[in-house]
Amino acid sequence: MSVSQYFSADYAEARRKFLDAAQTAGARVEHHENPERGPDGEALFADVAWLGPQAPRCVLLTISGTHGAEGFCGSGVQVGWLESGLHKELPADTASLQIHAVNPHGFAWIRRVTEDNVDLNRNFVDHAAPHPDNPGYRDLAEILCPPEWNDSVIAETEAQLAAYGEREGGHALQKAISGGQYSHPDGIFYGGREDTWSRRTLLEILGRIPPSAEQVAIIDYHTGLGPRGYGERICAHLPDSGALKRAEQWYDGDMTCPSLGTSSACELNGVNLQGMERALSRVAVTGIALEYGTLPTRLVRQALRADNWLNAHGDLGSPKGRAIKAQIREAFYQDADDWKQMVWDRAIETQRLALRGMAES
Ligand SMILES: [Zn+2]
Repeated sequence: MSVSQYFSADYAEARRKFLDAAQTAGARVEHHENPERGPDGEALFADVAWLGPQAPRCVLLTISGTHGAEGFCGSGVQVGWLESGLHKELPADTASLQIHAVNPHGFAWIRRVTEDNVDLNRNFVDHAAPHPDNPGYRDLAEILCPPEWNDSVIAETEAQLAAYGEREGGHALQKAISGGQYSHPDGIFYGGREDTWSRRTLLEILGRIPPSAEQVAIIDYHTGLGPRGYGERICAHLPDSGALKRAEQWYDGDMTCPSLGTSSACELNGVNLQGMERALSRVAVTGIALEYGTLPTRLVRQALRADNWLNAHGDLGSPKGRAIKAQIREAFYQDADDWKQMVWDRAIETQRLALRGMAES
């Protein structure tokens, strides 16, 4: 079977392939049903596959679809790892926990966000405390998400965003847009005002990690940032933390850290890694987001803005709606053999390094 065949054309196919591969591999499987439905009225699930001992010392945790539409990538890796038999490389004291489509609504509807228009990777803040403020986003909110969406609006607003970048700097522009905001529920990169279903589900699944576990390596699969096909290991652990030092060691320095300014990602509010770390405080957690490039940043951003407009104002079934769905899919999934091969090679290398790192820790 070629690598490309591990990847799927839509959520339903991805789910079917994952469950078939998990069953063939002899995994213990759980399903968590999302309260909403997919575009064809189908039920939506985050699915979980466990392999390995019941009382492991180490756990390799992989996650796909944190940002729904990015699920094509991580799903392909998870399916391939099961189908190819690579899961047999698990050491005797190590279990594998694969969470497939943790945000199934976003995956099925090809949106980056959850059913509540929330960016799951900005949702892990303490919602009882005051929410982080993002004044840059407030400045740009109307420009980013205009009520009309056509060529002249796109040209005009892109020019305004470019002017902001010239004035404030590229980093300030990136942080304003993608750092996470809690003031505009209909906007992009909205972190929400309460725990999403996906957050609750993820933490519930983590609660089943057996007390025997001492080490958990997390690889959360993402797309849409950086050079096409390149997989950047983005580590959101705090500077000077033991976790960051472990990640540097395991990946031999081939990783980046937003808070050290070495990553193509800026520092973000409410990332899931820090939420998972809090939930697993008794365990040594070493996590990365493995982030693959697709299209240039400007086009990814434009696709996100278009999709946000479509959700708020447009008609999904119209030619314009269908064109926007194709645009957003391409922004997060390059349906091409060379891209899938690059995704696969880097993913397998990374998973092997994580397994070796835990074995030696
Ligand atoms: Zn992402």
